[in-house]
Amino acid sequence: MDASRDSAFSPAKALDEALAGALEHRIAGSLYRSRTTVDGPQGVEPVIDGRSYISFCSNDYLGLANEPRVRAAFIRAVSEYGVGSGASHLVTGHLRPHHALEEELADFTGRARALLFSTGYMANLGLTAALTGRGDTLFEDRLNHASLLDAAVLSRARLRRFPHGDVGALERVLTDDAGGRKLVLTDGVFSMEGDIAPLREESRVAWEQGAWLVVDDAHGLGVVGPTGRGSLEVHGLSCDDVPILMGTLGKAFGTFGAFVAGSHALIETLIQQARSYIYTTALPPAVAAAARTSLRIVQDEPWRRDHLADLVRRFRHGVQALGLPLLDSTTPIQPVVLGDAHHALQAAIRLGERGIFVVPIRPPTVPRGGARLRIALSAAHTPDHVDRLLDALAELAP
Ligand SMILES: *Cc1c(COP(=O)(O)O)cnc(C)c1O
Repeated sequence: MDASRDSAFSPAKALDEALAGALEHRIAGSLYRSRTTVDGPQGVEPVIDGRSYISFCSNDYLGLANEPRVRAAFIRAVSEYGVGSGASHLVTGHLRPHHALEEELADFTGRARALLFSTGYMANLGLTAALTGRGDTLFEDRLNHASLLDAAVLSRARLRRFPHGDVGALERVLTDDAGGRKLVLTDGVFSMEGDIAPLREESRVAWEQGAWLVVDDAHGLGVVGPTGRGSLEVHGLSCDDVPILMGTLGKAFGTFGAFVAGSHALIETLIQQARSYIYTTALPPAVAAAARTSLRIVQDEPWRRDHLADLVRRFRHGVQALGLPLLDSTTPIQPVVLGDAHHALQAAIRLGERGIFVVPIRPPTVPRGGARLRIALSAAHTPDHVDRLLDALAELAP
């Protein structure tokens, strides 16, 4: 102990005092975030604090997170490969299930190669910083996922944001920019809006202006397009139109992790240079094995997408009859925009009292004044679940 130190001074207490103001400010603005502990597996009928709810806020769009064959594949792979991968991919952590999954993802996306990353957040940071640096420019839709925006900071490239889905504005910023490499980055399906980016036009202007288009299809792959090949399938686009495709495994595929798919040169460049790939432990191999089974189910069971599309239609029809402000979306992401954060929070509490679990999405995840109930439908929902949601929403109607 340093006896000369003022015995009343506590660094830990001083830190708490320094943090307290911002926390109190969040509470006052209805912006405080808190977690809910769910007992049991992810599913549409979770048990929370001993009470069972119908949940409309997971990204498990196809109901695969707890699917028996996916579970069995995971358990089998644990028996064979253990739990931890034990090292990064470039050392000794690249195991057979990882490699097999990469080959199957390349096949599924119609590309030469795919590369697994431990998370989607890391895939976006890694690919952006590997491909661009000082003197280069990134063009991003204003409503892109946080990981794409954060990637710009890490890459040190210049960031130009364009208004959501505005191809004319993208073309203008692309034209007046000089020098360096240019990447246009966009969500395929926007995570908080549910709309699909105008990828055909974006790929055209990117090509005309010497830029490459990167699509993050975290919410599209497995879910949209007749065969679940995502927003590129919806628009009929190939590897030439969108040379860099990123997808995640934690949403429709029900597991965990992410990947980038593209040409041999792209993937080899990422293996050499993507720091979030190089300097991190490889995914547990059993996660990759489970994702291989999910990928099969995504391809073999189109009924999941058909059922989901029916639920989306049923929900939209019901909400429109109620006159609630629903965004224009054909995907399972169906946001009801309430505007003010306090209003959204109160609405979520009232739905909770009726046994409906929906998390309110508030700034800064969405723009100020855009607080919403982000309703996410899943193939695991029944029409009755949707009707019960509509009954509860009726109470919020104007
Ligand atoms: C969820 C998400 C990510 C991050 O993926 P994780 O694997 O959860 O880290 C990236 N981009 C978009 C658009 C997402 O919705």
